[in-house]
Amino acid sequence: MTIQEAIARYLKKQNQAGLSPKAVLFDMDGVLYDSMPFHARAWKEVADEYGLTSDRKDFYMMEGRTGASTIDKLFQHSFGRNATEEEKKEIYAKKSERFHRYNDGNPMPGASEVLRKVKRYGLLPVLVTGSGQRKLIGKLQQDYPDCFAEDKMVTGDNVRYGKPDPEPYRKGLQKADAQPYEALVIENAPLGVESAVSAGIFTIAVNTGPLDDQVLLQKGADLLYPDMESLAADWDKLMEATGNRAAPFPGKKS
Ligand code: MG
Repeated sequence: MTIQEAIARYLKKQNQAGLSPKAVLFDMDGVLYDSMPFHARAWKEVADEYGLTSDRKDFYMMEGRTGASTIDKLFQHSFGRNATEEEKKEIYAKKSERFHRYNDGNPMPGASEVLRKVKRYGLLPVLVTGSGQRKLIGKLQQDYPDCFAEDKMVTGDNVRYGKPDPEPYRKGLQKADAQPYEALVIENAPLGVESAVSAGIFTIAVNTGPLDDQVLLQKGADLLYPDMESLAADWDKLMEATGNRAAPFPGKKS
């Protein structure tokens, strides 16, 4: 499907008259950081320790949920009940400890290039993550300088329901002072795509994990790329298709 076709389909599906982005809402894990393998490993090990039945891929399927919600899902699946508050606290602390031990903190290849283009076209980057990992959120300023302002971030600490509810992306729109048709979302997780699509936003999936493309498309992704590099390579075409005339000119600081 061409970008033009994807936009036409979005407008019809969401009953919008036009797509004129002024903000780009970025998910964090699996989009800005190549951190998902470490999350999955930490979750799988802690789940095994607690006798919770799981497969490594489950953690990619559940990506975007808050820690508490993920633990409840595992308990429901294994024991037919929710976890107690105490269990949630203990398990999430163990998972976080392992994640920080394993995580190499490497930014996602191609993400800097996407952000550079986003800024060149005059679009506002906003972070929308289910993560409450302060360390990683703090590292953003270092790895992507002058991209995400402190007041342009929605984290796991600011939401009540979290993904796949539309709430986090609706909050992202508020931070950008944008309507759904004035934003784009970049997501790697099925539940993140579901959240963004439910919020009425044109959603670009980047399949940086082990799941089938179909999983992301079935959740309603409007466009799909295998990685951030190929999205960066297509960015000019995407802007042209939305009618963004703020074409980058030489010498403009980005
Ligand atoms: Mg993600």
